[in-house]
Amino acid sequence: MPTTNADITAKLNALREDYAARLPQELAALHELAAGALADPGTQQAARLAQLHQRLHKLAGSAGSFGFTRLGKQAKQLEIQVQQWLGQDVDQGQLRIFSVAVGALAALTQAEQPPAQVAVANPEKATTQTLIYLLEDDPAVAEDIALNLRHFGHRVEHFDRLEAAEAAILRAPPDFMVVDIVFDAERRESPSLIAALQQTLAKPLPVVFISARDDFAAYHAAVKAGAIGYFVKPLDVIRLVDRLEHYLDRRRELPYRVLIVDDDATLAEHYRLVLTSAGMLVDLVTNPEDVLTALRNFNPEMILLDLNIPEYSGPELARVIRLSDEWLRVPITYLSSETDVDQRIKAMGQAGDDFIAKPISDRELISAVSIRAARSRQLSSAIDRDSLTGLLKHSRIKEQVDIELARTRRSGEPLCVAMIDLDHFKSVNDTYGHPAGDKVIKALAHLLRQRLRKTDSIGRYGGEEFVAVLPGCDATEARRLLDDVRQNFKEINFSVDTKHFTVTLSAGVACAELSSALTADTLLQMADDALYLAKHGGRDQICIAE
Ligand code: GH3
Ligand code: MG
Ligand code: MG
Repeated sequence: MPTTNADITAKLNALREDYAARLPQELAALHELAAGALADPGTQQAARLAQLHQRLHKLAGSAGSFGFTRLGKQAKQLEIQVQQWLGQDVDQGQLRIFSVAVGALAALTQAEQPPAQVAVANPEKATTQTLIYLLEDDPAVAEDIALNLRHFGHRVEHFDRLEAAEAAILRAPPDFMVVDIVFDAERRESPSLIAALQQTLAKPLPVVFISARDDFAAYHAAVKAGAIGYFVKPLDVIRLVDRLEHYLDRRRELPYRVLIVDDDATLAEHYRLVLTSAGMLVDLVTNPEDVLTALRNFNPEMILLDLNIPEYSGPELARVIRLSDEWLRVPITYLSSETDVDQRIKAMGQAGDDFIAKPISDRELISAVSIRAARSRQLSSAIDRDSLTGLLKHSRIKEQVDIELARTRRSGEPLCVAMIDLDHFKSVNDTYGHPAGDKVIKALAHLLRQRLRKTDSIGRYGGEEFVAVLPGCDATEARRLLDDVRQNFKEINFSVDTKHFTVTLSAGVACAELSSALTADTLLQMADDALYLAKHGGRDQICIAE
């Protein structure tokens, strides 16, 4: 479902109008409760005050998000006051003043904040082809760089003069730029010119500099020109590609998955829209009893949990979630207008990881959630991923085969699993050294990430052995895809000192038949058998399991 700026803005504003329309009724009800508590100091008083406390708390947490800042603040004051009376004898004089103040809330129903105008983050292009400009005056170096970048599926345009590159950037900015330090006709150096160009661009252009200089002033000039990398000559092209791929991997990342648990449906919907506008995937739970189902179906990376949900408190819910070790890793952040430090500490002592204070502005919410989700993803990735390649570890990729097999059984879509192994890799290590071997492994990891789709999973199965899980892909497609990887990989030009070499790979592919009850183990075994055939057929080839 495409979500546009206009879409989200319209929905946010509709919510806000809805909220504003219901406000007078809510304020009248509050006033009635306060007047009732005042008029009848008997048995009903405590119940009325408890109700007032609950509803003022909710108002204090939500009004700010819908543009009623002053109303929210005033409600907070009154909430604190009524909280002191819970379970106590109440002074009638003070209650009278309180009741008048509750009545006066009705004067604050004029929104002070302008209606929302959101800018939806542009989802990154689904295609992985990246446009790279290369500014390099040495034709041999330029060719080496361009050739290698092209094997990774990037489009490269080469310029040997600064003026030509500048004109091209202004006409069509690339995704990325590789710049050698060259001079223009007026002896201006490329970093200072790129720095000036950056000022005129809508979004900063990531640049990697290549230079013979290794001094602080040169690095500083590069940073001012928007450098994300700096390589001293002689250039190691594979390391350059590595840097670029790391940068692109971050941009290719899937959206953060956030689960919001809040009984206030309007406010929760507001948060959902705001976070969606920042490109996140959000699921809502307004009935706490649905939380376990939502966790299972949605698999969030973080949970935003309202601290005060009637009947089930936030900390209780957090403990329910933490009972199952499946969800131990997902951080739980309380979202609450609770200002009482003791209450906060008590909640965190039971379960949950930290607090975000309500009311919160939309921008703050986006940044607070992004930071926490990013950290959560980083931690999971440290646990699940191999440190050399960033690919899934052995156990996780096996799990992924299981998950996709189950999905295939439900959807009836095809599924292929490929086992990929470097050819004669032992001799690469023996001839060029272990660090060179590591570089080759990394390069293959990058190439696989580059060529496979977002829905595919890739794992480092063993030292120089990889597994790719390809849902929705039949044998013919899998062969085409892997053959393309094979072809590109063998053309990558590795170098150690002055020696150059290339490496080939073999792969075995197994496809899950819809009717058969295959297990992950048998599917992997079939792929391994096919790999064995590829090795014995002479290596540098793809074999499909029969
Ligand atoms: P084949 O074509 O039959 O696959 O031959 P091979 O030499 O690639 O196979 P073999 O399994 O005999 O050797 C694999 C080598 O991969 C041995 C090991 O030292 C090397 N290797 C495994 N993990 C790593 C790693 O992380 N880094 C490096 N540099 N080498 C590794
Ligand atoms: Mg091998
Ligand atoms: Mg091997």
